[in-house]
Amino acid sequence: MRTDNTTYTQSLSILIIDDSTSERMLLRTLLRKLGHSITEAATGLHALIFLSNQPKAFDLIFLDVRMPGMDGYETARRIRAIEKGRSKEWCPIIFLSGQTRPEDIANGIAAGGDDYLTKPVNAIVVNSKITAMQRIANMRQQLLASNQQLEVLAHTDELTKLPNRRHFLTILDSELARAKRHNTSLSIAYMDLDHFKQVNDTYGHEAGDAVLLSVAKVLSVNLRTEDSIGRIGGEEFCICLPGADVSHSLEPCERYRSLIQNLQIHTSSQILTVTASFGLTSFLPDTDDSIRLLARADEALYQAKQYGRNRVEVT
Ligand code: GH3
Ligand code: MG
Ligand code: MG
Repeated sequence: MRTDNTTYTQSLSILIIDDSTSERMLLRTLLRKLGHSITEAATGLHALIFLSNQPKAFDLIFLDVRMPGMDGYETARRIRAIEKGRSKEWCPIIFLSGQTRPEDIANGIAAGGDDYLTKPVNAIVVNSKITAMQRIANMRQQLLASNQQLEVLAHTDELTKLPNRRHFLTILDSELARAKRHNTSLSIAYMDLDHFKQVNDTYGHEAGDAVLLSVAKVLSVNLRTEDSIGRIGGEEFCICLPGADVSHSLEPCERYRSLIQNLQIHTSSQILTVTASFGLTSFLPDTDDSIRLLARADEALYQAKQYGRNRVEVT
């Protein structure tokens, strides 16, 4: 994150909100000289219409405190309310006023402003304030981007890039809630690769990883659009099939099983094949939660292993 004294010289899109034509002209002239592009609004309401229709249109707002009708404080509060509905947005607001009492400054900050300048404004001061605001805006942007990256990492299995266990359970919970709400069917298939330990033991862990990757890929590419998949353990995956009871889930599960069986996995030294067992079960809305549902699918998977693997069993 950048916390140095860098001067931000980029051209900004700035909104001036001020009822006085002459004040707007003064500030406009000054800001244009500094290389920024300017939009003007003579009332708070006018500015709010701009901001509602053009999200992210401005990098900075200069806002007059004293205006007839909606004053600057109320305008700032409403701008922040608009931004709240668009969680990732934030535009720095600098208040402009002839008032210099401490409580005026406090009111401005409380209303959602970020700084407070007294008229008449000085070009050097304005320029410095813009630089400071840009620095904060850029840091905030970087923070949002890294938070977003962290969120993706926290949800994603590192090897296969599929949803991890935690994320899959979240998906499953919301699908269960939807199935309950709309009184529709839902099935899940617990899937486990057969004799996978032998793959690792015979060909090495890297070959094992290549198998996991290929399986994840062939399933995600061929998954029906309504279905979701997650890697919920080492060589265990789970597929959620919304809208399908067991009888309608058998066919897609058989297809998924056969896709894995027919996979030819090229490693550096050989071509590997692998099979998987599936335990399939349907959601019972009156008694099930995701834990019970998964436990039943796991029982069916155990049966599939008992009956010889490379098959789909149902409970
Ligand atoms: P079964 O048919 O009964 O499921 O037998 P299995 O050998 O597949 O089952 P077991 O639970 O005995 O072995 C699972 C193996 O999966 C052991 C573990 O080392 C391996 N494994 C788990 N996660 C990974 C991984 O990320 N990469 C690799 N290469 N292997 C993994
Ligand atoms: Mg296994
Ligand atoms: Mg296993």
